[in-house]
Amino acid sequence: MSDKQIINPDIVESPEGISGQGFFATSFEKAVGLARKNSLWPLPFATSCCGIEFMATMGSHYDLARFGSERLSFSPRQSDLLMVMGTVAKKMGPVLREVYIQMAEPKWVIAVGACASSGGIFDTYSVLQGIDRIIPVDVFVPGCPPRPEQIINGILKIQELVGNESLRRRNSKEYNEMMKHYQME
Ligand code: SF4
Repeated sequence: MSDKQIINPDIVESPEGISGQGFFATSFEKAVGLARKNSLWPLPFATSCCGIEFMATMGSHYDLARFGSERLSFSPRQSDLLMVMGTVAKKMGPVLREVYIQMAEPKWVIAVGACASSGGIFDTYSVLQGIDRIIPVDVFVPGCPPRPEQIINGILKIQELVGNESLRRRNSKEYNEMMKHYQME
């Protein structure tokens, strides 16, 4: 132990590379995760009122661009985050499923609000009681409607998942089984 640590035991010397000139060693997986999580391109699938909250989330006050997600895509092939916001009628189910299938891997899904997550107050014959009945969902955002802060929190949760996702996950047995469950192979 150095003299400095004996005088002030709370101060620990930083390892080489942390300050000043130096380098960090990391894994390829972590570098890819960092790039992916900070450049998510959302596809807003907005069918009703929750979509309006999303518009506020994109506006200058909440400014989703701060999280690297300012580039919205209405083309499934050029997006990697499907955000489903609003009531999804059963008739709309096949359309949503098709949009999901057309997105290239790796892709993630957020169900924003009570309707997308569970059908919400519309416990009726015509409304899908949660989009996870037809596509896999990574994060559910509660609320009717959720505030923009909650939507941002959903994005942060997705970023956490994306940043820590193993590059092999999409080839794993569990992932393939889940896709089989959804009849998507
Ligand atoms: S959860 Fe509430 S605010 Fe969102 S789409 Fe459904 S009824 Fe509208």
